[in-house]
Amino acid sequence: MIQEIPIQSGAAFRLKKGQKLKVIDPKGQQVSDMVLFNANDKREKISSGKTLDFEESILITKGDFLWSNRSNKMMEILEDTNGRNDFLLAPCSPETFKIMYGNSDYHPSCFENLYTNLEKFDIEPDDIPTAFNIFMNVQFDENGKLSVDPPLSKAGDHVLFEAKMDLFVGLTACSAEDSNGGSFKPIHYEILD
Ligand SMILES: [Zn+2]
Repeated sequence: MIQEIPIQSGAAFRLKKGQKLKVIDPKGQQVSDMVLFNANDKREKISSGKTLDFEESILITKGDFLWSNRSNKMMEILEDTNGRNDFLLAPCSPETFKIMYGNSDYHPSCFENLYTNLEKFDIEPDDIPTAFNIFMNVQFDENGKLSVDPPLSKAGDHVLFEAKMDLFVGLTACSAEDSNGGSFKPIHYEILD
């Protein structure tokens, strides 16, 4: 059954070892931040540093694994119809909008949407790691200068993951203007046995 994450919100759920998670961009150009925790010991969580190290790439896609801070495989990417994801940048947070957008007013963020949804699994704000940013299009030049460009994903693009351990998963429909081509769309996901 396909579930919808409404615009600028999030979800959290369990995923058993061997189950698959399909994350779909239903309208195109929409980022989804994903964090993972070992359901049996939440101190073990997804690690950008370990993943980029062991996969020897900063562009993580089909055929790659998402690794934990304890150097265990958490997920395998089985399909990726878009092929562009980011694993460098932290989830957008209230401070992102203050520091980078000059906006001190309340603004929804992936960080808030992750920790509020993961609260039911006893996960706290300080536990949230760098997310795997599905469909996010971060470009970089030879000097290391980064730019956040509109996603290349088209309506119906998806990434299919397989859990390699029992997981708590946090997933968002990203709330940052620049990451999503200037408009906010929902994200769909489906858990497959
Ligand atoms: Zn975000």
